[in-house]
Amino acid sequence: MQFAQRLDNVETSAIRELFKLLGKPGIISFAGGFPDSAMFDVAGIQDASQKALAQDAGLALQYGATEGFMPLREQLAAFTAAKGAKDVYADNLVVTTGSQQALDLLGKCMISPGDKVIVEGPTFLATIQCFRLYGAEVISAPIDSQGVIVDELEKLIAEHQPKLVYLIPTFGNPSGATLSLERRQRVLELAVKYQTLVVEDDPYGDLYFDAPPPASLLALSSEVPGSRDWLAHCGSLSKVLSPGLRIGWLIAPPELLAKAVMCKQFSDAHTSTFAQATAAHYLLAGHMPATLAKVRKVYAQRAQTMIAALRSELGDAVAFTEPQGGLFLWVRLTGAHGALADANVLAKQAIAQGVAFVPGAPFFSQHPDLSTFRLSFATADEDKIREGVARLAKALRA
Ligand code: PMP
Repeated sequence: MQFAQRLDNVETSAIRELFKLLGKPGIISFAGGFPDSAMFDVAGIQDASQKALAQDAGLALQYGATEGFMPLREQLAAFTAAKGAKDVYADNLVVTTGSQQALDLLGKCMISPGDKVIVEGPTFLATIQCFRLYGAEVISAPIDSQGVIVDELEKLIAEHQPKLVYLIPTFGNPSGATLSLERRQRVLELAVKYQTLVVEDDPYGDLYFDAPPPASLLALSSEVPGSRDWLAHCGSLSKVLSPGLRIGWLIAPPELLAKAVMCKQFSDAHTSTFAQATAAHYLLAGHMPATLAKVRKVYAQRAQTMIAALRSELGDAVAFTEPQGGLFLWVRLTGAHGALADANVLAKQAIAQGVAFVPGAPFFSQHPDLSTFRLSFATADEDKIREGVARLAKALRA
């Protein structure tokens, strides 16, 4: 069959092959990018979905506005404003089918074949794929433990004049890194200076361990004159509440938001009204603070357990930065296993030992670092984490 040319730019990721092996009985998986299903607030969602049917059935089961179900837009605007963002109202927020759709809409609205975009190296694989599908050349900006290195980012912006810069400033996937406050301010200044759209993808910001992360780019934009005109912000309920609900949102300058709504109309008409009404009642009933407190505590403990196990089982064979939230540890093989080591090889040995993780290379749009890999500490309980890391150590020795 003759497929569209745009498909030439993307290939199914190597990671998919690995995921096929995860069904092996007894395997401990640190590979998933999802929350623990044991964390789902089933009772709260049941209550909310019943209210959606009892009070809003005519709307919740009917076609709806492309922009989203108004009570949910209001709740999400309030949820975002409560974290310090100014001038966020229902009118400048559009509900999307997961934040993945927000990224797709941004790609659709902004990228013509041959355009350049800049992302962090490493970054969320699906974003690289999605932007490539629209024909983008995806340039990679280096990061350290404080997130993207802004001097390097500025050089790349000046050189390539990208259509957009995509960042996950808080608890990055896969890096776990958080952009410092000072760098956040500088990123916003760069957006204004170079008149470049900056996309802040923020599905993890609520999953902090001890203390809230620095203010989002969206919240800080009110302090950097003009920056709000160059900022798009993607939010999601997936990691805090449920990815199955498929509730995300996009906040963007009015002109861009209008184009995104137009494209969404042709794409899925609107996000499931039933899911939107359920999410609206969930937030309205005030269930969210308790849910957040619970998931933060559990993931913080699991992160600590994994960090301690890595230190005792693998010692200086690996290096990693301690994340302050999110779901991921980003690990690099060092020493004897260092620069020449290939996490792909380790991944195969690890599967043989009964533990799975995702090798790091596919997360780089350019210059892959083969010695890196991503561990999720979210889905295995603490005993499984300790056992899984012990198996990882065995795989490394093999
Ligand atoms: N952005 C990032 C950085 C992610 O890690 C994910 C999910 N893994 C998404 C966006 C998409 O999430 P969703 O569509 O479920 O909101």
